[in-house]
Amino acid sequence: MSLPDMSSHGHDSMDECVQALSQVHAFLHHELLEADATVIRHHLHACERCMENFEIESTISEMIQRCQPTSSAPSTLAARIHTLRISRRG
Ligand SMILES: [Zn+2]
Repeated sequence: MSLPDMSSHGHDSMDECVQALSQVHAFLHHELLEADATVIRHHLHACERCMENFEIESTISEMIQRCQPTSSAPSTLAARIHTLRISRRG
């Protein structure tokens, strides 16, 4: 009398999810090889749960990028403020 064979059911797809999610950050930052990125993309389209996680991760990383401007941002921002002041005068 052993337990019903439930442990093997869906194990492979679960493993795929773990793999996909572990590479989501690299995927978002375009650090993956084209072949790996394609695998992730395919999995996200096939797996609703991973797609949800991917969308959350992508939103978070977008927010982080906005909070941490790159070194070129300050001068761009200053130029924009300068332009705004000029246009407001007129
Ligand atoms: Zn998945």
